[in-house]
Amino acid sequence: MAGDSCLFCRIVRGAVPAAVVYHADGVTAFRDIAPQAPVHILVIPDEHIPGLTDVMRDEEPLIGRLVRVAAEVARAEGISKSGYRLIVNQGPDAGQSVPHLHIHLLGGTQLRVPLV
Ligand code: 5GP
Ligand code: ZN
Repeated sequence: MAGDSCLFCRIVRGAVPAAVVYHADGVTAFRDIAPQAPVHILVIPDEHIPGLTDVMRDEEPLIGRLVRVAAEVARAEGISKSGYRLIVNQGPDAGQSVPHLHIHLLGGTQLRVPLV
């Protein structure tokens, strides 16, 4: 089972410690261990999905929930008005390093533009 070896599945289960800021309705959010902004939180499905490419049609509601939770966490972090960025890295060219779907929530400072 993927969950046994997957770092983020283990974080969901509490087997690996993380600063969890949200955990409900099949979604978990926790602080990135190497933050690239004052607020850097990862929002993930509890269920193991390797990446965006692997999302099935019947999982569309889950993706909606991930984005809504990201906005809710941003509000809780006090960055709704100042702004924030959501990023999903898919595959090698994007530098995806953990093969469990996650949305980066970044904010708390002026973020760089352009993105690449
Ligand atoms: P990716 O590069 O796959 O889009 O993002 C993976 C993210 O997971 C990186 O920003 C990295 O810092 C973070 N990360 C990797 N290992 C851990 C960990 O053990 N705990 C936490 N909280 N974040 C991690
Ligand atoms: Zn996983």
